[in-house]
Amino acid sequence: NVPEVNALEVRDVKVRFGGVYALKGVSLAVPSGMCVGLTGPNGSGKSTLVNAVTGVVDAEGEVRAQGTPLRLSRPGRAARLGLRRTYQTPRVHPKLTGIENVCTGHRLMAGRSAPAAVFRRMRAGAAERDRRRDAAAALDRVGGSAAADVTGAVMTYGQRRLVELARVLVAEPRVLLLDEPSAGLNDTEVTALRTLIADLAAEGVGVLLIDHRISLLNEVCDRLVVLEEGLKLHEGEPADVWRHDRVRAAYIGE
Ligand code: ADP
Ligand code: MG
Repeated sequence: NVPEVNALEVRDVKVRFGGVYALKGVSLAVPSGMCVGLTGPNGSGKSTLVNAVTGVVDAEGEVRAQGTPLRLSRPGRAARLGLRRTYQTPRVHPKLTGIENVCTGHRLMAGRSAPAAVFRRMRAGAAERDRRRDAAAALDRVGGSAAADVTGAVMTYGQRRLVELARVLVAEPRVLLLDEPSAGLNDTEVTALRTLIADLAAEGVGVLLIDHRISLLNEVCDRLVVLEEGLKLHEGEPADVWRHDRVRAAYIGE
């Protein structure tokens, strides 16, 4: 039996903004090769959890990526362990084209391998061509090829999302945190996203998927974690979670 490896482990994480706790002690695990959905009403702390794990906000608690403890205030180690995230509001450079934006994803891997500077300069031309080829392939994979030569400033909202997603893909994620990736996507794009997430999990990536589309969560997630007001309200298999009275109440005010 192969022991289950957790791509991500979050233990008793708390985040305080001023005097108010946005996260009051949340624990969850994302095994490698699985997709865990994180859902809950607006303001329940989903984005804050991703921000805590990636060092964007100060947090208390323990986080491990690939079994290695992270220092929450120092995101460098997390990046070297293959922890990648997207933002609820997609972050795309307005002056760079889709391909150029995706190419910047390679920088997320900086520090993981460090060839000598001279060798790096000699290889720079070939490396640049490789990066562009990888970027084009990643854009194609997410269904965002139409944004390849469009600058960030004039991309549609959906294109910005797809470009951001392609940018994390070129950075070889092992743990992928997606903050509402389907928001602003049309049905065709959501279908492509679903396939992509399933494929990444099949390749061994641990995916934490924040989303409001219940159909997407049910189809692609092995487990769901529901937050409410900074605490875990319920956790389980998708079909069971939605039967839980308090989850229904949190969502539809029953
Ligand atoms: P969700 O992603 O589940 O909608 P968030 O994690 O964005 O919720 O927000 C959880 C709570 O924390 C909300 O009350 C929000 O207003 C607050 N919050 C989030 N980020 C900050 C911040 N940087 N400063 C102050 N309050 C914040
Ligand atoms: Mg959010």
